[in-house]
Amino acid sequence: MIRKLLRRVFKRAASPTSDEPAVLGVDQHGLTGNQISPAARKVCSVLQEQGHKAYVVGGAVRDLLAGQTPKDFDVATSATPEEVKAAFRRSRIIGRRFRIVHVMSGPETIEVSTFRASQDAESAETDAHGRILRDNVFGSMAEDATRRDFTVNALYFDPGSETIVDYHHGVADLRHKTLRMIGEVRTRYREDPVRMLRAVRLGAKLGLNIDPAARGPIREMASLLENVPPARLFDEMLKLLFSGHAVKCLKQLREEGLHHGLLPMLDVILEQPLGERFVWLSLENTDERVRNGRPVSPGFLFATLLWHEVLVNWEARKNVGEHVYPALFAAMDEVLDQQAEKLAITRRIAGDIKDIWALQPRFDRRNGKGPYRLIEQPRYRAAWDFLRLRAEAGELDAELPEWWRRFAHANPVDRESLLQSQDGTTPKKRRRRRRKAASNQPGGGEDHPASQ
Ligand code: ATP
Ligand code: MG
Repeated sequence: MIRKLLRRVFKRAASPTSDEPAVLGVDQHGLTGNQISPAARKVCSVLQEQGHKAYVVGGAVRDLLAGQTPKDFDVATSATPEEVKAAFRRSRIIGRRFRIVHVMSGPETIEVSTFRASQDAESAETDAHGRILRDNVFGSMAEDATRRDFTVNALYFDPGSETIVDYHHGVADLRHKTLRMIGEVRTRYREDPVRMLRAVRLGAKLGLNIDPAARGPIREMASLLENVPPARLFDEMLKLLFSGHAVKCLKQLREEGLHHGLLPMLDVILEQPLGERFVWLSLENTDERVRNGRPVSPGFLFATLLWHEVLVNWEARKNVGEHVYPALFAAMDEVLDQQAEKLAITRRIAGDIKDIWALQPRFDRRNGKGPYRLIEQPRYRAAWDFLRLRAEAGELDAELPEWWRRFAHANPVDRESLLQSQDGTTPKKRRRRRRKAASNQPGGGEDHPASQ
């Protein structure tokens, strides 16, 4: 009897079909329940107690198996959104197209989605290129696994029993460092062209090789990205740029032919001869910050990515006689408008970008009250980081950001002498000059420092 059971389990593990998955124990995958956040564990156990299936799924399981820290924990369940909502007091149903439930527990929010069916191109609503416009049909767990993009993203972990349900050999693929598409590759790219970008991003982030079958068609299908709504592309670009592996991702995108003419932002990033060094430096800087868990802002990054476009435009305007500031503001607007056409840079981010750019010329003025006012600006620190990056890229002398660093940290007396060192005079010389100027005036005059 036991032998029969063992044989059955073993057979399952050895050759799972997509309906009959392998069920792997800790000894086979190494993932334990305590690696899952308390909130996600609780969501699974509450739903299971009520008779539903519930698993931690997707990116979190994948990242943990690959030895990385997951961004968040998602749960997939057989319960409907209404059933999930009823099971947790602090929860709300969100999304119109496909309704999911946010369950709040302590500081965490867990995204809970009901198993969804994959739809073939005939039954689903698609655009003229085969892109699926809606996928909002509930399905079985097996169907939910099959509609996911890559095998490593279709792993279901039960924190209670510490087993992984693996329909598509995802654990083995991860072990072999392979990113493999579930289903027919071209169909899957047609259904959702963003999967091409996801392939590159996940490959770079996890150090996986994109399986040749999934990699092959990318070049010829790249143009399908043109039909993807800008807001979706922008979201994916943000994920890519803030993955901690932006340099690697962008180099790989270029290799796969995924950048050209598709995303104006990428053209700018990868094809600007002038700013190339600046842009790569800025991306390296962002990668390092993300990996060290330091805060990063899209406004700052986009400000660096587009800066050289602004510089060229600004110079051209100054050369035909426009004044410094109006010329800069006009250049900023023109460059941002060009990008906004295709990429939905949000208004808030555009505001941040402009703040950083607009402060740049003010660093040139190192006398009078200007410097005091500049360091009080709310965006001073971001603007100074930006200035330092410009210096690192060789656009200006490293002495400038260094002077500002000293000025910002100095006490009032040192600040004065830093300012005066810019005039080429010392305080003593200035006093003498003032006294001389006063005694030369008809009627003489008192030297009132307070009136200066
Ligand atoms: P990360 O969170 O690191 O960006 P992720 O894989 O978790 O990566 P999410 O966008 O959070 O990405 O998606 C969660 C899961 O949903 C994925 O693991 C995958 O199973 C599925 N998924 C996401 N996007 C797609 C897609 N375009 N096509 C098919 N399945 C997808
Ligand atoms: Mg995720």
